[in-house]
Parts: sequence; structure tokens; C-alpha cells
Amino acid sequence: MYEQLYPCDHCGGRGTAGFSQRVVAEIGQAGFDYGRFGRHAGPPKIGDALTRPAYAPKTEKLACIYCADCGMTTPWIAVDNDEHAALDQCAKIWNQRLDRPKVTDGDLRDLIEKEVGACDAQMVINLLARNEGDWEARGPIFAMLAQRLVDAAISTNDCWPIQPLLNDAARYRKLMQLVKWVDIDGERYAQFPKIPTPGDHSDLVFEDRIALAVDGMPDRDRW
Ligand SMILES: [Zn+2]
Repeated sequence: MYEQLYPCDHCGGRGTAGFSQRVVAEIGQAGFDYGRFGRHAGPPKIGDALTRPAYAPKTEKLACIYCADCGMTTPWIAVDNDEHAALDQCAKIWNQRLDRPKVTDGDLRDLIEKEVGACDAQMVINLLARNEGDWEARGPIFAMLAQRLVDAAISTNDCWPIQPLLNDAARYRKLMQLVKWVDIDGERYAQFPKIPTPGDHSDLVFEDRIALAVDGMPDRDRW
């Protein structure tokens, strides 16, 4: 059921099931308690679900859906016997209260700032190349993307070295292409090739030596 709840209407937080209890007896009725277990103790509190002592006034169990971030909540629904039914009722109310904020330029900018990185240059260039019309509207977005690429390229170089990562990824791809299937006793194995390493590389660091050895392997003839 959780996955069917819309994010919080107010802050975008996650809807969460909350439980509590309240005294069954109304003011004036026998059994009502003005003490710390009574209604004067305030409205039901989320998480107040522990069984009360036998001498305390009788309570009924309550359920609601609330936002874990900002606390916005549905009304409390009494749980008779079926907790799921009560939560379903809450969920219906929760999902009805939907007045989603409109997308703004700021949202789009945030998305671009968060999601586009230096390695997306090809994607952005491809988008530009494929765009055929509506330059008036899309131009500023392309400008935003281009600016983000420049920014990312500058800040990424310092804090997150992309190039070594890409080189390693390329080496792994090459190894993948050189893998052969070997069938032994009915089982299939992936066999990586033996990779020669020249003797004059023996002074190098372990990783560098392996990297050079892999780079020296021929590409597989894929045709
Ligand atoms: Zn919220």
C-alpha cells in the first residue's frame, strides 16, 4: 500500500502509517478520565500505541497516514478489527489531498544541476543535433545544459577523476570481448584470456602493469 501513496502534498515527503489510541468514553460519561490517560491529555499522539494498564480508561486503536518530514496528517480513523481497512481509508484521504505545485523554471534547473554531469556531453550534443524546432522554448534549456556541462567538467576534474574510471571500464569491456566459453563436464564457464606482460614493465606498480598488459591485447574481431 505504501507504494500507492502520493508524496506529501506539502513538502514532497513520504507518507507513513501512524498509530495511536484515544479514550472511548466521552466527557460526562462514566469511565471518562480527566487524568493523564483522559482526553485532557490532548489529541492522540502518533506512536502512542502501547497497551495501557488495566485500571486506565478503555481506549480504541487509531490509525492515520502522516508525512514523516513535515507531520501533515490525515484524520485519525478508528481501527475496529481490521488495521488494513483503516489504513486503506486513510490512504484514500491522503491521496485525495493532492494539489501538486506547478513545475517552475527552478525545478528544471535543479534537475539539470543534480543529474547532468561531465560524462553526459554526448547526450546533450545528441539532443541538440536532433532538435528540429521550437528553438524559442528549448533554447534556454539547451543553454542551461551547456552551462552545466562546462561547470561539471571544471568541478568534476578536481573532485571525481572520471578519466581513470572510464579507462578501467574500457579495459573491462575489452576483456569481456576476449572471453571464450568453455564447456567442461556439461557446465559452461567464461574463460578470460591469458595476458602476457612484457618483462620491462616489471618496475611498474601492480595496477599499472596489468592496465598496460590489457591495453596491449588485440581487440576481438567482432565481424
Ligand atoms: Zn510533508
